[in-house]
Amino acid sequence: MMRAMSLDDTTIAAIATAPGASGVAVVRISGPLALAVADRVVRGSGPPPSLRRPGTFHHAHLADPHTGAILDDGLVLVFRAPHSYTGEDSVELQGHGGQVPARRLLEAVLAAGARPAEAGEFTRRAFLNGRLDLTQAEAVLDLISARTERAAAAAQAQLDGALGQRLTALYERLATLCADLEALLDFDESDVPESLLHTLDAQLTDLHAKIDRQLATWREGHLLREGALVVISGAPNVGKSSLLNALLGRARAIVSATPGTTRDTLEEGLALEGLPLRLVDTAGLREVACPIEREGVARARELLEQADLHLHLIEAGSLLASQLAAAPAGLPRDRTLLVVNKCDLVPASPDLAPLAGWTVVPISARVGTGLDRLRQALVQALGAAPAGAHEVGISSRHRAELQLTSGRIEAARAMLAEGPAGIVLAAGALRDGAEALGRITGRVYSDELLDRIFSRFCVGK
Ligand code: GDP
Repeated sequence: MMRAMSLDDTTIAAIATAPGASGVAVVRISGPLALAVADRVVRGSGPPPSLRRPGTFHHAHLADPHTGAILDDGLVLVFRAPHSYTGEDSVELQGHGGQVPARRLLEAVLAAGARPAEAGEFTRRAFLNGRLDLTQAEAVLDLISARTERAAAAAQAQLDGALGQRLTALYERLATLCADLEALLDFDESDVPESLLHTLDAQLTDLHAKIDRQLATWREGHLLREGALVVISGAPNVGKSSLLNALLGRARAIVSATPGTTRDTLEEGLALEGLPLRLVDTAGLREVACPIEREGVARARELLEQADLHLHLIEAGSLLASQLAAAPAGLPRDRTLLVVNKCDLVPASPDLAPLAGWTVVPISARVGTGLDRLRQALVQALGAAPAGAHEVGISSRHRAELQLTSGRIEAARAMLAEGPAGIVLAAGALRDGAEALGRITGRVYSDELLDRIFSRFCVGK
């Protein structure tokens, strides 16, 4: 993999639109020579792009800079630093959609002096030029990959800076506390008043609580970004495929009266109250001789471990307690809904007493009864914020850094409890904590960190 550099003075170009037939295709150019490169490609009456006013567009022919052959015609949009996405001089050429015209146009732009952009390099430059903080840059990717409106709304709020501002405020507080503590290093230990250490401890405790509150938003962020993994488990023939089909509102899984028909895991996407769900029907956890099924069983086990929520099915009509006893060991009560299926087969509501301590939802996958309650129970059990709350949840990367910060603050408090002798070590711990916090927004960064973040982007973004 090519290692991207810190801000450089090259001019980059890429196709910014998705491949395939489309209305328009956009070739983006950014860097100090963007306007000069565009001058060599753009033909037509009127001044060349470099003499146009920024923030304007005009119609022109787009040509090969060497042969002069016309490749396309389209719009030329001119931006000047710092008023562009990247903060650099930029030009966007909007030609006709389609793979061939866009590729030929990009080749012409490269022949005119630009180099191909790396994945995420436009956004990386926007970050390096101070147009976005890292949480906003990441929000660009979240927005592009959002699978529901709710996920898109959260990404948009993050792009507007909601998360970045909160985390920057925490970073600044910690950095100040750190500086205060370091200032004490100039004093003789015996001159440091006890009360000062108490005040510092109180401030660290308060900051710690605020960090904990941010950490608590991970669940929401995870659900919206990765989607909730909901695993359907239960004995063969209990109605897992039927339930999956009922929730999806269409036949996807094979439903059969022969146990063991669902040989592999099936994964389907579903949105509930704006939460993207990954709904997986497992092959069941039975030991079988057939190698294809054994593979399915292994995958099912893996999924059971990663699940955000389990829907474990049992059947009304036969002994509920013994069915529950046969459930996979370690099914977590707080993350499991026990779904009692086939309630249409029993004359009265089943006696749920043997299932006390579990969240139980009686349904009939065949008739469709109880499905609305199941949907509600699902959303509730996943622990998402109420719909419309628009809390911006942190990502797993943010969580790892916040946990580090939280740990370093705890360590610093323990060191300060030892009295002035602990100040040196506590200051070091807080410095580490502040750096971790700074890496979230990009106050502190390395090329490796940026490579890791931006390599997930597409070229042209
Ligand atoms: P799986 O092996 O757990 O995936 O079970 P299936 O979904 O393939 O269903 C097994 C059998 O039970 C099929 O004949 C289904 O029609 C039947 N079945 C599933 N759900 C219900 C239900 O709610 N009521 C009744 N009466 N039959 C059901």
